[in-house]
Amino acid sequence: MAIRKIITKENPLLRKSSRPVTEFDSRLATLIDDMVQTMYKAEGVGLAAVQVGVLRRVVVIDCGDGLMELVNPEIIEREGEQQEVEGCLSLPGESGVTIRPMKVKVKAQNREGKWFFYTGEGLKARAFCHEIDHLDGVLYIDNLSPNQN
Ligand code: ZN
Repeated sequence: MAIRKIITKENPLLRKSSRPVTEFDSRLATLIDDMVQTMYKAEGVGLAAVQVGVLRRVVVIDCGDGLMELVNPEIIEREGEQQEVEGCLSLPGESGVTIRPMKVKVKAQNREGKWFFYTGEGLKARAFCHEIDHLDGVLYIDNLSPNQN
């Protein structure tokens, strides 16, 4: 396993769409393991593959209650609304209040290709939205609330 370099907002890759994962092989496993290490080292709650320069639809999240590895994730239900402060490992030192759903349901594959469903509320819902947005080249600064108190 290895710590990978997290790219920052000057890098145009962050605005690109990531491609679906089709091969559930050892390269994918290595990518996921490296992303997990890199996320923990940076003390983040989530990381998308594009943030380590890989345009594949892979996300890792740990909001303090366990690690989730999401391959080809998709938000399939949204409920309610929240406005909370959000930041991003690719925009170090910055933060802003975003508008996000309070609760989401996500469908994703694991590293073996098996499909799972996850639900998240509050911080976890924000993490799902934030990381899945990365896969479409969207950053949290695109979802800022007009109320920046
Ligand atoms: Zn981010």
